[in-house]
Amino acid sequence: MTKDGKDDASMLRGKLTTFRRRCGKPSCRCATGEPHESPALTYTEGGRTKTLTLSASEVKEVRAALRRYTRAKAQLERSASTGLQALQRRRAAGQKARRS
Ligand SMILES: [Zn+2]
Repeated sequence: MTKDGKDDASMLRGKLTTFRRRCGKPSCRCATGEPHESPALTYTEGGRTKTLTLSASEVKEVRAALRRYTRAKAQLERSASTGLQALQRRRAAGQKARRS
């Protein structure tokens, strides 16, 4: 990990899920019983869904980063809608001015 903060995960896109798997060891409890569970982040990259398993300590950070992304995205969407409305208003006002 670098110290310049370039690898910080302050924003993340994806979904927190629980990843279940069998490790393949015949002697492991998962061979007959419950599979191993670990928190994971699923996300799409290049149209494909990928899974990144997380350590328990990463979950809180990931959840916060996902929330930050969702909030920032909603804000962007609002700005875009406001911009569109402003353009439409200007267009409507311009047409009215030309007609009179
Ligand atoms: Zn196992």
